[in-house]
Amino acid sequence: MRYSGSVCKLCRREQTKLFLKGDKCHVKCVLDKRPTPPGMARPQRGKPSAYAIRLREKQKLRRLASIAEKPFKRLIEAASRSPEASGDHLLRALELRLDNVVRRMGLATSLKQARQLVRHGKVLVAGRSVSIPSYTVSPGKVVSLEPKSRENVGIKLSLETAKRLNQRPSFLEFNEAELSAKVVRLPERAEMSFPVNEQLIIEYYSK
Ligand code: SF4
Repeated sequence: MRYSGSVCKLCRREQTKLFLKGDKCHVKCVLDKRPTPPGMARPQRGKPSAYAIRLREKQKLRRLASIAEKPFKRLIEAASRSPEASGDHLLRALELRLDNVVRRMGLATSLKQARQLVRHGKVLVAGRSVSIPSYTVSPGKVVSLEPKSRENVGIKLSLETAKRLNQRPSFLEFNEAELSAKVVRLPERAEMSFPVNEQLIIEYYSK
């Protein structure tokens, strides 16, 4: 079932800023005021078990990538069949999802916003509208915005934020005039947007 509660609670649960509210997270963050997990007045005492550490890492990535358990498990299964390291395969698959590419282009400040743009048919891949957020953008493909949405105020604000933060990865070749980006190569680990220990996640599922 899709989580519909406060997203800030998810950050408190994972004890880290997941930036789920996009630009707003840079202005005011609940975690600065209330750093304890939901339902706890004080931080937990004692050392967590190995299982708990792996579980939390898995949940952190699911929340960062905003993916439900079932499709996430399918990605893990695909990663474990891959000839390359499973963790690398998993993170790359998440990085190259269309919703994530739209976010990293700066057309949206959060995955939620990016997903909405994709679902509403505002995003084109190689000149054709693609409304599936989980679509994988392969190297060589160009992602762009449908012309009518270029004047969209929300998108303009997101682009301003992207310019200010200057965090566009170099595996995307951004064309400011066209508001498009070409995936020029596969992303490297240091360029990916998911600060997790992927090995712990693979271990969680291989128990
Ligand atoms: Fe997380 Fe953003 Fe809420 Fe802070 S403001 S707790 S980073 S969602």
